[in-house]
Amino acid sequence: MAEPKHPQKPDTKIITGGRRKALTGAVVNPPVWRASTHLYDDVAALDEGDKTNEDGRFFYGRRGAPTQWSLAEALTEFEPGAHGTMLYPSGVAAIAGALLSVLQPGDVLLMSDNAYDPSRSFAQGFLKRWGVETHFFDPLIGAGIAELFCDRTRAVLMESPGSLTFEVSDIPAICAAAKAHKGQREIVTLLDNTWATPYFFTALDKGVDMTILAATKYVVGHSDVMAGAVTTTKRHWQALRSTAQTLGQVLSPDDAYLAARGLRTMAVRLKAHEAAALDIAHWLAALPEVTSVLHPALPSCPGHEIWKRDFTGSSGLFSFVLKGDWNKAAKFIDTLELFGIGYSWGGFESLACPKRPEKYRSATEWNCEGTVIRLQIGLEDVEDLKADLARGFAAIAG
Ligand SMILES: *Cc1c(COP(=O)(O)O)cnc(C)c1O
Repeated sequence: MAEPKHPQKPDTKIITGGRRKALTGAVVNPPVWRASTHLYDDVAALDEGDKTNEDGRFFYGRRGAPTQWSLAEALTEFEPGAHGTMLYPSGVAAIAGALLSVLQPGDVLLMSDNAYDPSRSFAQGFLKRWGVETHFFDPLIGAGIAELFCDRTRAVLMESPGSLTFEVSDIPAICAAAKAHKGQREIVTLLDNTWATPYFFTALDKGVDMTILAATKYVVGHSDVMAGAVTTTKRHWQALRSTAQTLGQVLSPDDAYLAARGLRTMAVRLKAHEAAALDIAHWLAALPEVTSVLHPALPSCPGHEIWKRDFTGSSGLFSFVLKGDWNKAAKFIDTLELFGIGYSWGGFESLACPKRPEKYRSATEWNCEGTVIRLQIGLEDVEDLKADLARGFAAIAG
């Protein structure tokens, strides 16, 4: 297939992205190109081969092959203003790879206080030992972030909505403040966009410099592959790519194949996750056992107005606060039949997990009356899911 000649809507792009005859052959799905070694005709060709380091020419397995390039291109085409996408063997590897490509010892990193726990640990452990200082900020800070900038501030890592407590940040305002700051070096903005994916929130056109996906979640969509991706502009591309290659980061061709296959149905899956999650969120909000529902599309969620302004939809992950302590929440969850008990999300199956957000806060306080339960709403029949939850509420009644 040739480069698209006409503008395409997101639902079309997700089907056509990265499918180019010159790259993967005249097939619908790029085959799994499994290789480490490229064989050269002679020593002169070997000598020549080393001179360029570009995707699109097979050099050595660590630099990827058509299967990975096709997936990377599909993700790049989704983000207006993007130059390229690097793939990683997990979402955490993508976060680490992006941060290491912009930071150096002596820099200051600002991180949203609702960021994914392993992002915090990476900053508080690895980056600290490496000489980078991290300060956390209120996810609702907006343009006020400018007051936190110092001469050494180099990067801002955001997660919006946070994947535990779901506050929505004013990404355009934070990015504009970062661009306006005049310090030793420019401030690079990074966003963990795993919850919305570029289908519901394109990041680079909102001012973000590097957008990160745990592709393990909605891109893969079937709970069977770990993968990560970082998409960025021309300005930051070389640093991102050379850091990933220096660290030897490569997504296996088999996993890239499965991720690309998942991507093709991501739009329809997301719409189904969205509808069912909204249905259940509204249903929960009306129950006396529930203190609050933390879902960006509900007015009770901090940052809801920003979600309405910036996002084109909502995905299938949200939390609610159940009245009562941890043991009560555990009993509620243990009663459920359809909701699996486990980490991760973005697959076709529903999951439930009790959470302690207060453990992962430093700039803001987390107080709520009850216990946070995070739900990943899968693709089961929504009435069956509600009946399952209703059995959970019945089990803890009285
Ligand atoms: C799961 C997750 C990650 C990490 O992805 P892995 O593939 O599990 O390493 C990063 N950010 C968010 C918001 C996540 O939910």
